[in-house]
Amino acid sequence: MKPHIHTPLTYNHSAKPFGFVNVSDKWSSIVDKQAKMTSDCDVVLHVSAMPYTGSMYIKSSLFVVPFAIIAACHTCAAIAAPQKSGKWIDLTHPFSEKTLYWPTAKSFTLEQEFHAHTDKGYFYAANRYSASEHGGTHIDSPIHFSEKGKTVDKLSLDQLSGDAIVIDVTRKAAANRDYQISVDDIKAFEAKYGRIPKDAIVLFRTGYAKRWPNAETYLGTSERGQDAVAKLHFPGLHPDAARWLVKNRTIKAVGLDTASIDYGQSKLFESHQVLMAKNIPAFENVASMDKLPPTGSYIAAFPMKIQGGTGAPLRIAAMVK
Ligand SMILES: [Zn+2]
Repeated sequence: MKPHIHTPLTYNHSAKPFGFVNVSDKWSSIVDKQAKMTSDCDVVLHVSAMPYTGSMYIKSSLFVVPFAIIAACHTCAAIAAPQKSGKWIDLTHPFSEKTLYWPTAKSFTLEQEFHAHTDKGYFYAANRYSASEHGGTHIDSPIHFSEKGKTVDKLSLDQLSGDAIVIDVTRKAAANRDYQISVDDIKAFEAKYGRIPKDAIVLFRTGYAKRWPNAETYLGTSERGQDAVAKLHFPGLHPDAARWLVKNRTIKAVGLDTASIDYGQSKLFESHQVLMAKNIPAFENVASMDKLPPTGSYIAAFPMKIQGGTGAPLRIAAMVK
């Protein structure tokens, strides 16, 4: 069995299901006893999913833990440590039947495999889940729009973690649900807070996370299927701004709080094309950016390590001083 996490609920009827185990716990202590590292420290976790009676509620897998395991592994390359003080802010929407997916994608489903006291006297619970890669809080790996781009398992943990800046366009996005974040928005941020640092993770806050999980207000339509795609209306990053970023700044990744880095009415997904041609991944449907300062937070954004994956569910969190 590959390394995975057991939430306390797996063997304890009254314990926390996965979505309610906090980020600090995960970072420091809850590593499955079976999570043995392979000789080259290639750690893979998957969810030992758990039931939550009522809404069948699950957060994406524990992607913070492999970071901690690797940090403790003598043979692995050193990874810069996050800031030591501060608190973790979870930027991940939970995965449930309410989770929003692209109109043509398969939504998240969770099925109960077992949830009962066994005939040996102990309690045991386990579920299985399925979904498209691109839905909920997730990563677009460069191969999503670039044939030679990296698959999700090939992105280094170093690229997926680092200092973040948050460019806030909530006012403009509230006034225009087809708003595209411009070069001027980036320059206005830099005029106020300084140049985007080398190797930054650049987050764009449109304010649309507050509308989650209402498909009508978040995506522009609650319809499903191919015909619904033309009805999508939400803000994104203008292709000119994506081109400006890759030409003028060195960044690790981008993220935003809508369903796609290109706005809802995009036909060519040019911002995806521009970023992913440079092996820059995008974090989409990011939550709770209102809790982040414009500068000074540290991001850890670790997706499920799907071999050959074009994207994956993402557990993203920020350490804020
Ligand atoms: Zn995606």
